[in-house]
Amino acid sequence: MTCAGPARSQAGVSPVATNLAHDGIASPVSSLEHESGKSSYGVAPPVGVVVDLDSVRTAPARLVRAGIGDAVSNLSAVANWELAAAQTGEPIDGLAATLARTAAQAVLHQPGGADGDGFRTVLAEALILSAMAMTVAGSSRPCSGGDHEILHAIDQLSPGAGTHGELAGVGALFCTWLRGDDCATALLADCLARHGLPRTPADLGLSAADFTKAVLSAPATRPGRFTGGYGDAALAPRAVGLARARRLAAALKVHRAIQAVELSLLILVAAVIDAVHGGLAATRVLTVACLVIAGLLVPAHLAAVMASRRLS
Ligand SMILES: [Zn+2]
Repeated sequence: MTCAGPARSQAGVSPVATNLAHDGIASPVSSLEHESGKSSYGVAPPVGVVVDLDSVRTAPARLVRAGIGDAVSNLSAVANWELAAAQTGEPIDGLAATLARTAAQAVLHQPGGADGDGFRTVLAEALILSAMAMTVAGSSRPCSGGDHEILHAIDQLSPGAGTHGELAGVGALFCTWLRGDDCATALLADCLARHGLPRTPADLGLSAADFTKAVLSAPATRPGRFTGGYGDAALAPRAVGLARARRLAAALKVHRAIQAVELSLLILVAAVIDAVHGGLAATRVLTVACLVIAGLLVPAHLAAVMASRRLS
């Protein structure tokens, strides 16, 4: 199953999942190990996915349970995304967020254990929905927030501490607690405990110091991704200011006055007014107004481009 992602570098492949350890069974992002660590690569989404429950039944139970951690971590990832949308103006894709959240909720509230086919079916659907959410979003954003940043940091600093899904569950629980969402924290903790998944650093065999080190280095694993928690403070003031300016500009819509169609109409209106009243007063007012708007918008656009995190 681990080679299914790279194999999809070309379109038209339908992987057969024999395990449910993570959403890589259909994800448009594939993680590959090399001499200098792990890297993520974009791959073609599959045209279909076949989940062989007979094979899943024979897979190591720990790996199947790990998929639960990866699926429910979507809740934290989507919450991070919404926070980024509110605080930095990052665009959010409603369909992608809905797919990711619905997948997580299905697993969170599904009764039974990972040893039953009913539960495994829900888990398989949730992991495939998660992968579809990433495909719709065009990035891992709906399924990867601060939770996965912590996961990658632990992977780098303490290799072998846990599987992808186990670490995702611990990261999601910590980030949800950090956001002060007590209700979601309790639901997540209950779900992880019910399925025998780790919840604390000690469950992963990590000391508080190890975990703190991982949390502090987590933002560096995905530079520029706002998660609304640790490590974002330095970026927030600039981003918040820009977001407000963007919202104001969108509300006033003054930029439309100097767009081709709108400007043609305004020139026509000014010409008619001038023809009726005689003189060039309306045309002059329009010319000055357009120059002022262009004078404001050009530096604003330049500032937005220079401050954009996509450049970093
Ligand atoms: Zn994941």
